[in-house]
Amino acid sequence: MEIAVISGKGGTGKSSISAAFASEHDKIVLADCDVDAANLYIIFEPEITEKSSFIGAQKAEIDYSKCTNCGTCIDYCRFDAIKFDNGKVVINEIFCDGCKLCSRICPENAISMIDNAENLLLSGNFRHGKMVYGRLAPGEENSGRLVNLVRDKAKKIAEQNNIETIIIDGPPGIGCPVISTITGVDHVVVVTEPSLSGMHDLKRTLELTNSFNLKTWVIINKFDLNSEFSDKIVEYCNHEGIDVLAKLPYDKQIVDAMVNCKSITEYLPDAEIVKIIKIALNKIINF
Ligand code: SF4
Ligand code: SF4
Repeated sequence: MEIAVISGKGGTGKSSISAAFASEHDKIVLADCDVDAANLYIIFEPEITEKSSFIGAQKAEIDYSKCTNCGTCIDYCRFDAIKFDNGKVVINEIFCDGCKLCSRICPENAISMIDNAENLLLSGNFRHGKMVYGRLAPGEENSGRLVNLVRDKAKKIAEQNNIETIIIDGPPGIGCPVISTITGVDHVVVVTEPSLSGMHDLKRTLELTNSFNLKTWVIINKFDLNSEFSDKIVEYCNHEGIDVLAKLPYDKQIVDAMVNCKSITEYLPDAEIVKIIKIALNKIINF
């Protein structure tokens, strides 16, 4: 069973909830698909047993033994990745889109395209089972592809180790990496917070999960910070036929747990919020 935890925007507490879900098991695969800002490895400190490079877009590189500093490539690069720096033509690899145009137009044939192998796919053991995550190189944009690699690896590990449940911590938003995260999963949990922007993002996210016909649940995090908006979210979900899985109160200890490299379940196993999270997870598993 694959359970994806996503949110319309960052900062809703999605990763804390994923970490708490993962800590409810002794044998789980945890896939951190928030590849632009993977953070669960910081909490769970997995012992890495496999590490591979993921080739992203190519980057342009100048061979200065051939370059005459004519500046032609600067005029052609529409991503403004090439500039004069102290009188010398240089390429900023963060801005380079890998379009190859400069390598084609350089009169001296001084530019070649090289693989950007900085993206990483890592997997290993952690205290609740197996963990997989990706690290996208700075400036890399093809995070959808890396998300797919993380998910494929997680499924393979689950099969090899007879593990039934995969928890996926997804990226925020509704873009390509989120679509890659939720495609084909069994359950999607959308974490939201009670505010106007939270409501707006939730609606967009639910439109997305509806279009994929996925079993979707909503968790309202910090619901007590704005009860009026929480009620509106519940009303909206009821109207749309979406189950509100849990309403979690604001609890500063969640942040304290993260600071101490623990999930809230590990940090305060008897806390009220942990009981609510447990009930929520059981609802999904027994659905
Ligand atoms: S076009 Fe080629 S030769 Fe001219 S500055 Fe660029 S890299 Fe150098
Ligand atoms: S490959 Fe394209 S984006 Fe990169 S430096 Fe060359 S022209 Fe610019």
